[in-house]
Amino acid sequence: MAYTYDDQNIFAKILRGEIPNDTVMETAHTLAFNDITPQAPVHVLVIPKGPYVTYDHFCAEASDVELVDFARTVAAICADRGVTADTSPGFRAISNAGDHAVQEVPHFHMHLLGGRPLGRMLARA
Ligand code: AMP
Repeated sequence: MAYTYDDQNIFAKILRGEIPNDTVMETAHTLAFNDITPQAPVHVLVIPKGPYVTYDHFCAEASDVELVDFARTVAAICADRGVTADTSPGFRAISNAGDHAVQEVPHFHMHLLGGRPLGRMLARA
């Protein structure tokens, strides 16, 4: 893949401890923190600690250990925040990649949103 990682992006600075974050969960390979502009009562961003630009970049190039660590952390956060769809009205996971999706921060992140009705997946343009 031809992705180029910009290590000056804001999430890279959070990972280096250069700017603060409101940590929700941290593992060996994954960090989760509250979004600074929450769009729902639960709005957690989950990021790998490795230098991946988008979800497809992460899925293609991360190690099996990183992939599993990320996925298990997502599950743990959903359970911890009480938004799993088996015991609550559920949640939405979103990962924006590139210009069409209006990705603002070029470090792969998964938005976990819940705690209120979220409407349909996409607004009509
Ligand atoms: P995206 O458009 O998918 O790249 O989303 C980037 C998200 O990062 C937005 O929801 C922002 O509110 C969030 N964000 C930007 N800076 C910070 C920060 N310092 N701490 C937490 N969330 C942030």
